[in-house]
Amino acid sequence: MTDWARKIAEGDVRALARAATGIENRDPLALAVLRELAPRAGHAVVVGITGPPGAGKSTLVDAMARELRRQGRTAGIIAVDPTSRRTGGAILGDRIRMLAHHADPGIFIRSMATRGSAGGLAQATADLALLLDAAGRDFVIIETVGVGQDEVEIAGVAQVTVVVLVPGMGDDVQAIKAGIMEIADVFVINKSDQPGAGRMEQEIQGMLGLVAGGPQPPIIRTIATDGTGVRQLLEAVQQMRRRGDAETRRKDPHPDALELAAVIASPARPLAPSPAHIQGGHNLKVEIGIIGGSGLYSMPGFEAQEEVVQETPFGSPSDNYVVGKLAGHQVAFLARHGRGHRLSPSELNYRANIYGMKSLGVERIISLSAVGSLKEEHRPLDFVIPDQFVDRTRGRISTFFGEGLVAHIGFSDPICPQLAEVVSQACTAAGVNVHKGGAYLCMEGPAFSTKAESNLYRSWGMDVIGMTNLQEAKLAREAEICYVTVAMVTDYDCWHADHAAVTVTDIIANLVKNAENACKVVAAAVERMPDERSCKCGAALSHAILTDRKLVPEATLRKLDLIVGKYFV
Ligand SMILES: [Zn+2]
Repeated sequence: MTDWARKIAEGDVRALARAATGIENRDPLALAVLRELAPRAGHAVVVGITGPPGAGKSTLVDAMARELRRQGRTAGIIAVDPTSRRTGGAILGDRIRMLAHHADPGIFIRSMATRGSAGGLAQATADLALLLDAAGRDFVIIETVGVGQDEVEIAGVAQVTVVVLVPGMGDDVQAIKAGIMEIADVFVINKSDQPGAGRMEQEIQGMLGLVAGGPQPPIIRTIATDGTGVRQLLEAVQQMRRRGDAETRRKDPHPDALELAAVIASPARPLAPSPAHIQGGHNLKVEIGIIGGSGLYSMPGFEAQEEVVQETPFGSPSDNYVVGKLAGHQVAFLARHGRGHRLSPSELNYRANIYGMKSLGVERIISLSAVGSLKEEHRPLDFVIPDQFVDRTRGRISTFFGEGLVAHIGFSDPICPQLAEVVSQACTAAGVNVHKGGAYLCMEGPAFSTKAESNLYRSWGMDVIGMTNLQEAKLAREAEICYVTVAMVTDYDCWHADHAAVTVTDIIANLVKNAENACKVVAAAVERMPDERSCKCGAALSHAILTDRKLVPEATLRKLDLIVGKYFV
């Protein structure tokens, strides 16, 4: 036996952690260690925990781990979230949960969020479960987010699948197809002290009655926050494991499972369907979002693949997202004002536009915006990459937070420095005269400024004036998306002597030329986009959430799950 494998077999947690990382990254050495250890597996109870977001699965898993430790047994927890990248968030989540268990070596927690290449997430999860089993863990608990096809495949790894529901889902339960009965070995009604627990149980029993034959899964009531019912749940799980039939049933995900996943996902998040469902393929992951005019859709080199209709908890975006390939990257275009320019800057649903990007998986947004120049040196047809904003809008909603969840993001540097560098290099490559840095004054509009206002903004040292980008930048930061503005100078604002002399024909000619250049700049920027983000945008919320986690209303959490979910694991 190699040294590495021997250490794991002897209970060395650091060797185990290193192997877990290696397995997730499909590192051949770690996989060899797994092969070496595999014959030792077979002792653990491998249980999958699934159910809609907001059912309290993480809390329940923690309560199960605590109960197991009380009984002198060990646990390995695999928290699977295919919707988030394995970045600071997942790791931070691990740390918080580790702390909750006082760094007890008897509880090993690992978050998984990479899709991997060979065999994907389900394979990596199966391998990690095998590793933890071989390492001598008594229980291996696989906790999933409750959305999508990965979910069901991962549940297929478990010997016993626990479906966690909460009271108050009411009629939604009726909508759950009989397929759920095939996947669930045990039902849990969590938060069973809430009204509606009895009705929930009746509804589950009612549905179980529709499924012919076989032993019926037990229904356990729990209150994960105080541990009520957790011992009974563990007993039920072990009983199902002993029955053995669970093992044979679990080999392949049930054919109804995919449909089931969609149904499970729907009650809690009716307005935020997972990107996988919308796009019809979970391999399609959009990296870069581009907000601008609809003229960009037809830019050279862009192969449009589909239009994605997004409904968000904040309403509808300006238009459908046009998703496709550009310079080898998956990108999504959004026409800021809608196709046909139907929406004024004051009417835009900025939250929906940014949320829609986030749910496509976008990590970077390049925003194109026509602006007026407030400085002589920013000539028409120049592009400015601002690094500051000043807000002169009124009453626009520019935060996702509120409703019982307070977060204050840092916004001193509103533009992503890495993205600004990429985009300004792209301008140079495209032969566009670019000014890096500057202040973008965001005005309400729709009327342009008076001369007095224009001169006032000049006296403040502002560089360009536009009507839309500030809200986008704030919301993108809250959503931990990198954001950069490409401010395309159309003309001098009204302070300039030339302003009155400029004809409409001139302005249109400039708009057309700017649009042409915008296409070149976007293509060049996407082409040279580094794979990894070197900036801090992806962790903007890590110290921003102030509200006591326990006091955040469930409905708010559900609404913001896509954005803050990783901080509430
Ligand atoms: Zn960034």
